[in-house]
Amino acid sequence: MATLAGKVAVVTGASRGIGAAVARALDEQGVRLGLASRSGDDLGIDGAVAQPCDVRDADQVEALVAATVEHFGRLDIAVANAGVGAYASFLELDPDDVEEMIDVNVKGLLYTVRAALPHLIESGEGDLVTIASEAGRRGFPRETVYCASKFAQVGFTRALDHELRDVGVRCSNVCPGGVATDFAIGHGRTPDTPELDGMMTPDDVAETVLFVLTRPRNHRILETAFRPMSEPSWG
Ligand code: NAP
Repeated sequence: MATLAGKVAVVTGASRGIGAAVARALDEQGVRLGLASRSGDDLGIDGAVAQPCDVRDADQVEALVAATVEHFGRLDIAVANAGVGAYASFLELDPDDVEEMIDVNVKGLLYTVRAALPHLIESGEGDLVTIASEAGRRGFPRETVYCASKFAQVGFTRALDHELRDVGVRCSNVCPGGVATDFAIGHGRTPDTPELDGMMTPDDVAETVLFVLTRPRNHRILETAFRPMSEPSWG
């Protein structure tokens, strides 16, 4: 198992849910952090660089990455996690939710990678981890646009692997099923959605991210997929 101590990571969507769990797990491993979210929360992590950053705005993403590199002198890991979801049949989806899912999940990933990649290449041992979803591997009813955005993430990250393997940057898709967070609450999920009870925790996902990042550098995890025992395996 490779050590992560002393590495520098940027995590997007770090203020809550999976992103916050990943940030805390990396902090425990001695990773120094740049944290991106609209609220700019630093999670109380000592020494973290945190500033308001909407991943829909390429300039804000560039600024967060630049501030992190300026502070720590390098960047080794990017965890592209910021994401939103809305559940409804296609014609029932709120048009604003459609725009937001494409802008945050797809463009936000592209902006994050564009800002981080030169530094990951310079690191010589870079890692991009995209927090995609089972919805990036299978089509689910009431998740048409969310699935479209997550298939886009998976496809982009897989294709990028071919460009970057030779320069020592690993690109991994982490594809969880249901995770109990604020995700999509008010947009098709409610706090009393019964399925939430059986879902995985953000820490479960963070553990998988640590697994991906700590593989020896002689190999890379292209994709991990995992689902709560309470979820059937459709498709
Ligand atoms: P969450 O609890 O709602 O947290 C979303 C995070 O993203 C928050 O930190 C939020 O912070 C940030 N965010 C939202 N819009 C943003 C924007 N425009 N710019 C920057 N940050 C933004 O959701 P989650 O469940 O942790 O989801 C995280 C990722 O996991 C998403 O990509 C999601 O698709 C994926 N995922 C979730 C599940 C699930 O069931 N929960 C399953 C599989 C995959 P601010 O509000 O402060 O900006």
